[in-house]
Amino acid sequence: MAFLEEEYPDNNLKFMRLAIEQANEALDSLEVPVGCVIVEDGNVIASGRNRTNETRNATRHAEMEAIDTLLEQWREQRLSKSQVAEKFSKCVLYVTCEPCIMCAAALSFIGIREVFYGCANDKFGGCGSILSLHSSSSEPQTRFISEPTSQSRFD
Ligand SMILES: [Zn+2]
Repeated sequence: MAFLEEEYPDNNLKFMRLAIEQANEALDSLEVPVGCVIVEDGNVIASGRNRTNETRNATRHAEMEAIDTLLEQWREQRLSKSQVAEKFSKCVLYVTCEPCIMCAAALSFIGIREVFYGCANDKFGGCGSILSLHSSSSEPQTRFISEPTSQSRFD
């Protein structure tokens, strides 16, 4: 871990650890252990964990939970569509596992700035493992955070 911290001196690991805490909560609730946090200006503004079993809804992935928390908050604050888009464009997502194709498409649609993920998703990955939904320059940058050898993707 010390190696990773030297390699990535900013707050990326701190936020990924918070995402892992969410994943642990999911595990404690007998869910597939995936968790995430959304960060704006260095502050966590939403978190989410997988709730598919609890809700009996296969779309309730961690990312969707966190996005919906923000949409609800911003709806209550009566933000306009363009203000919401502006907010999302400043947000960074830290998620323990590569977003699935559904979530990667949603993240792309809302225009989130950047996505950090902790491990590849060999079955459903939408950020390169199966499909790459974020390949054009206007799409969010996605970075695989736990692989020290992929340093060139990290600077
Ligand atoms: Zn998903």
